[in-house]
This record gives sequence, C-alpha cells and structure tokens, in this order.
Amino acid sequence: MTRSISIFGATGSIGDSTLDLIRGDRDNWNVVALSANCSAEKLAKLAMEFDAEIAVVGDESCLGELREHLSGTSVETAGGTQALVEAARRPADLTVAAIVGCAGLAPTMASIEQGNTVALANKEALVSAGDVMTAKVAEHGTTLLPVDSEHNAIFQCLQGNDIKDVRWITLTASGGPLRTKSLAELDAVTPAQAIAHPNWDMGAKISVDSATMFNKGLEFIEAHHLFPVGLDRLRIIVHPQSVIHSMVEYRDGSTLAQLGPSDMRVPIASALAHPKRMDTQCKPLDLAAVGELTFFAPDEERFPSTKLAREAVYAGGGAPAVLNAANEVAVAAFLDGQIRFTQISAIVARTLEMYAPEAPKDLDAVLAVDAEARMRAKDVMELA
Ligand code: NAD
Ligand code: MG
Repeated sequence: MTRSISIFGATGSIGDSTLDLIRGDRDNWNVVALSANCSAEKLAKLAMEFDAEIAVVGDESCLGELREHLSGTSVETAGGTQALVEAARRPADLTVAAIVGCAGLAPTMASIEQGNTVALANKEALVSAGDVMTAKVAEHGTTLLPVDSEHNAIFQCLQGNDIKDVRWITLTASGGPLRTKSLAELDAVTPAQAIAHPNWDMGAKISVDSATMFNKGLEFIEAHHLFPVGLDRLRIIVHPQSVIHSMVEYRDGSTLAQLGPSDMRVPIASALAHPKRMDTQCKPLDLAAVGELTFFAPDEERFPSTKLAREAVYAGGGAPAVLNAANEVAVAAFLDGQIRFTQISAIVARTLEMYAPEAPKDLDAVLAVDAEARMRAKDVMELA
C-alpha cells in the first residue's frame, strides 16, 4: 500500500539517508512536502525526482531561486517559517522531522497537531519544548517514532516489554573524534578536527555536538521525554565502536541491546517501516571485523556538557531550552572561528547561570525562551 511522506530538512544528512531509502522503495511512497533552509537547487532537484506536491525553503530570500528552478513543473513552492508550518499541516502518513536546531520546532509541532506520525531526528526541538511537545503528542494521539540511533535502539529494545520493568536505560556514546585529547589539546581544536567524526557522517552542528559530547547531553534529555522511566534510571556509557546503539536493562537482570552498522539508514528504515521491517542496502554488521567492543565511563572534566545537560534537566523549568539555545549559538560561533572549542561548554554554563526562566507552557513561550537565551548567550560570548 502506498504511503505519503513529508520530509523537513530534506537536503541534509538525515534527509539524504531518508530519500535514499525512499528511492529504493519508490512505488510504495507518495511525497507530499520537502523542505530546506536555502539549498534551492538541491531542493528543486529532489522535488522533481520525487514528484513532491510542494517544496519549501525556510529562508524566504531563497524562494525566488527555488521558483526559477521549478518553473514549468507542477511542484508548488513556498518560503518562510510560516510556510514551513503550513506545509507541516498537510496530511501525510509520516513526517520526518530532520531540520537541525530549534528552527525545526514549529513545523514539528504542526505535524504533531495534524496527527501525522512523526519520525523525529530533530532532537533540539524535543529538548527545547519538552513537556510542551509530549503533551501535544498525547493530546492528538500522535505516534512519535525516534530516529536518533540511540533512541531508536531503546525504542526497539522496549517492544513487547513493560516500561515499568526497566531498571536502566543506557545510552551509548562514541565519544567523538576528540575522545582521547587532553584539556590543553581540546583548547586548540579547529572546526575541521571537531567535525571529522570517526564513525558517523553527519551535518556540521551535530558533528560538533558529538565532539563536545553535547550531543549525548541533548540525547539524555531526549530520552527522558521519550521514555519516562525517571531521570535516575538513565545513564551514559562511552563505547567508541558505535556498534551497540543503546541498551535497556530489566529488573530480572536481562539487558537488551540493539546493534547495527553506523549508518543512519538503519534507524530511519525502522521508523519508515514501523511496525514492519524493510530492506536496506546497508553493509551488514561484521562483528569479527570489529573484533572488540569496549566501554568507558564518560570523563566530565574534559567533556562537561553531559553534566550541564543532566543538571539542566534536573533543574527543570526552561533550563533545557536555554542549554540548547546557548549551545546552538556557541557551536555556530565556533564553526565561524569566533570562539575556541572549550569555550562552547563555558558559554552554555554561563548562560544557564544568568538565565533561569520558568517552564514554558506553550509553543510561543518555548520560542520566547529560545530567543532570549540566544541573546544572553551572545552577551556572554562578547564578554568572554
Ligand atoms: P544537516 O545540517 O545535514 O541538515 C539540516 C537540514 O535542515 C537541511 O535540510 C537544512 O537545509 C535544514 N535547515 C537548517 N537550518 C534551517 C532553518 N533555520 N530553517 C529550516 N530548515 C533548516 O543536519 P543533519 O545532520 O541532517 O541533522 C538533522 C537533525 O537530525 C539534527 O537535529 C540532528 O541532531 C539530528 N540527527 C542527525 C543525525 C545524523 O547522522 N546526521 C543522527 C541523529 C540525529
Ligand atoms: Mg544519536
């Protein structure tokens, strides 16, 4: 049976992987909306290839270029943040939320309200909105399928079990490309070194997050909202091979783990086909070639971000949204050569000290906290 799909962030790394799977299963999918921030040419090509109903650029200044590329075709075009939200309101069996950052929050919330099943890659949206998003999911009876590899692994390990029987959820972390660097070495890390991930090929922002371990901090908060076992039952372990994508231990002492190649097409395929399975072209896991699986406790002196994230989610209120916004600002500044690698976590820590808003009650309040936190983080950066 043909199913309909919209992909927000279609031109990024997750977008590429998703469309690769759709390409291999073309007869079973009808593409509704595809979006990008500004990559008009790439978006137009994809919209034509997949015969999308509508192509949307988040940055309105790129709409003219998109229209030129799509003139004479039947693909509708639109631009701007409101246009993203309107496209997300179009009914589709599945929406893939793959915009990077809090910029993806409003369209993701619109898909949830529409009742579309949402395959969520955009962790920043859930971290910022927290209960505001999970309440909407419950209100509209929406199915949220985690795409983040760890959360997808946990989701799979929970199938057929009672979440009340969970003793521990263990998120695995690769440790990133800088895992073995000293603090002094970390201080001198360049953007090129930070984004050179040993196991995964990802967008620039998440690659830096992986290097700082903010990615795992955000994922800790993400796991808390997706799998309500209580914060005290969530933990992180460094596992450099990225073969075990996460684990669930039950009260009888059984630990279930999901293993697979470091290829996002695996968790995305599990969300696309859920509750069934589909074929992928991913290289099968060759454990004999991997040889060894190793595990380490996280070092929060060199990588304080997981501690900051844990403290923020325990503190509650708007702290997770502030943490996320400050991190987005600091990562952009690092990639732009304005600050040093070790300043990222220092800026986030200082912003959290300066700004502790109450828990936002709705989408507008989340976006207001996000905007204020960005301004505060920029102030902190200027003083640094
Ligand atoms: P990416 O940078 O490769 O792609 C981001 C996409 O979002 C692009 O299509 C871009 O055009 C669009 N975009 C960027 N800014 C936008 C804005 N302001 N408004 C509208 N659209 C905008 O990022 P990615 O690696 O594909 O990651 C996407 C999301 O998935 C992130 O939240 C990331 O944390 C999460 N994720 C990614 C991976 C991975 O392997 N890449 C794994 C797990 C989770
Ligand atoms: Mg992940």
